Amino acid sequence: MKLHNFNSGPSILPQTVLEQASRAILNFNDTGLSILEIGHRTAWFQEVLNEAVSSVKQLMQLDDSYEVLFLHGGATTQFMQVPMNLLDDGETAAYCDNGIWGKKASKEASLFGNIAVVADSSDKNHTYINKGFTVPADAKYLHITTNNTVEGTQWHQFPDTNAPLVADMSSDIFSRPMDFNRFSLIYAGAQKNMGAAGVNLVVIKKEVLGKIKRPIPTIMNYQKHIEAGSLMNTPPVFAVYVSMLTLRWIIEQGGLVEMEKASLAKSALLYNTIDSLPVFKANVAKEDRSHMNAVFFLSDPALEAPFLDLCKKEGMIGVKGYRTVGGVRVSMYNALPLESVQIFCDLMKDFASRKG
Ligand SMILES: *Cc1c(COP(=O)(O)O)cnc(C)c1O
Repeated sequence: MKLHNFNSGPSILPQTVLEQASRAILNFNDTGLSILEIGHRTAWFQEVLNEAVSSVKQLMQLDDSYEVLFLHGGATTQFMQVPMNLLDDGETAAYCDNGIWGKKASKEASLFGNIAVVADSSDKNHTYINKGFTVPADAKYLHITTNNTVEGTQWHQFPDTNAPLVADMSSDIFSRPMDFNRFSLIYAGAQKNMGAAGVNLVVIKKEVLGKIKRPIPTIMNYQKHIEAGSLMNTPPVFAVYVSMLTLRWIIEQGGLVEMEKASLAKSALLYNTIDSLPVFKANVAKEDRSHMNAVFFLSDPALEAPFLDLCKKEGMIGVKGYRTVGGVRVSMYNALPLESVQIFCDLMKDFASRKG
């Protein structure tokens, strides 16, 4: 049976990326060595890293004031590393609490300074994105999560603020064009939309660094990573390689404009289907719906288990909602073909016609 991979992360990757990565495990670029066996200070790996960095700069159209790093860990590491580098004792950072990941990020930051929660959507179970909030004038930065992977909301317009913007883009990175030069720091774990788990992309505007007095452990220090060109210690070589291949694939497909077109087609098809079938309901405010992760419910909770069973039986992978939210979550990352969404929607219609 053909499987349709709607996993929220780690998630679907382009088939060609998987094929190239498998070949490189046996014989990397005809070197006769595996990508797992080559030194990270070889010209071979330097070429991989260089291409990954320049692809990021090209896709984001970054100006020269930015540095691009590939660092160990997941986005959760960045929850700590960002404040460790940007927030001094007694200073304040502003955070938006629009879901589970943003909340975790602010909790970690509170270990380093004062946190002002400037937007909080918990009054409606995080089914919307706050608008029109104010950020304290002395905030060192404002942290947002551009796509709330668990709750299914996404920022479609960014807050108008003088504070440097810091964004966790783990689950919508490279899914749409945006003015990346508006951000002072962008980070993303690779395993949602740009590769394999184990590596973080970190994009930093250099001017935000070097402003705090507290000593920073070397391996956590962005400035030291910049000086070392992401090679302070052994990077996750294979994970960087898979990201490089995925970035190359995105560029070959036509870049972020084409990624967004595909993503809008997939999400419109799914949300239109949800809205047209009374058996299903989506609670997220329409204007804040995520084009990456659609979260919805069965109008009759008793039908949730039968629907999820049917999905399983038909090869629909990873559509059960997050454990604290429940319901259904369909993730539609870059590599997911429209055809998978079409087949899923047909299944929804079929289910509705029998249970509705
Ligand atoms: C998945 C996710 C995380 C956590 O990523 P890890 O790599 O597991 O640390 C953080 N933020 C967002 C928005 C996510 O989707």
